[in-house]
Amino acid sequence: MQNLSDPVVIKSILSKHGFTFSKKLGQNFLINPSVCPKIAEMGGAGQGAGVIEIGPGIGVLTHELCLRADKVVAIELDSRLLPILDETLSEHKNLRIINADVMKLDLKKVIAEEFPGLKVVVCANLPYYITSPVIMKLLGDRLPIESVTTMVQREAADRLCAPLGTRESGAVTVAVSYYCEAVKLFDVKRGSFLPSPEVDSSVIRLTPRKNPPTVPDEKLFFGIIKALFSQRRKTVLNSLSGAVGDRDTALKILEISGISPTLRPEQLLMDQFIAICSAYSDTVNPDLSRPQ
Ligand code: SAM
Repeated sequence: MQNLSDPVVIKSILSKHGFTFSKKLGQNFLINPSVCPKIAEMGGAGQGAGVIEIGPGIGVLTHELCLRADKVVAIELDSRLLPILDETLSEHKNLRIINADVMKLDLKKVIAEEFPGLKVVVCANLPYYITSPVIMKLLGDRLPIESVTTMVQREAADRLCAPLGTRESGAVTVAVSYYCEAVKLFDVKRGSFLPSPEVDSSVIRLTPRKNPPTVPDEKLFFGIIKALFSQRRKTVLNSLSGAVGDRDTALKILEISGISPTLRPEQLLMDQFIAICSAYSDTVNPDLSRPQ
């Protein structure tokens, strides 16, 4: 097995295949040898586990996953990487590579077909340009997965894992904490990648809740969250007034919810977002439930 963390080895493999990095596809490959084993271990790749990896690149994390898990399915969009993966991971018989855009793939079907009888986890060094959409797809589709352990940009990690009610929280924090528990596992410096990105990263783990909170209508709930955070400097009253169309209705919703109109969206907790949603659906026609 070649050392896929060694920049000299990586450059020689890539030049042999005439491969050049695509910035557009978020191609920053890991070269810090301690990171992939840690993601695999902390991500639950082990006996009895099936692992979905998103974006294997040249296979540095895939190799660590294959060493530990019963089966690995790696989804790679860039078909130029397929002959490289064939070469670098030829020793692993428990690996299937799917050449597809993860955003367009029916992951429920993949899980049912590829991992019967296994507990399923997702491990990845996600391409940064689609971090949030991929996470929302994994969580929103309610896939039968135990956890998602992934590298994301440090700023995204801080936002995704922020406690509600703090300045760092945003619409994505509310959405993620609705579906799961999010924890930051460890930080990774920009020099751990080839090419080196302009920002540092962190590895986070998302664990879907067995019993997510109950809301009257999920679409409406997420519509309200989006509207509230669309202007985070405004008070909840102003954001809600803009969303519902008039100040009196917004005031009424906040009164029913028991929420001070002068609070800012980032100061609210999950119960308060849910209360706004319930009061809204009791009070007005749920226009916000339309996809925006
Ligand atoms: N796992 C490798 C590593 O850690 O070195 C590569 C990670 S690199 C940050 C992201 C990978 O995701 C690239 O291989 C890129 O081609 C792939 N990718 C980008 N967009 C994708 C998509 N929509 N679906 C599947 N893979 C994608």
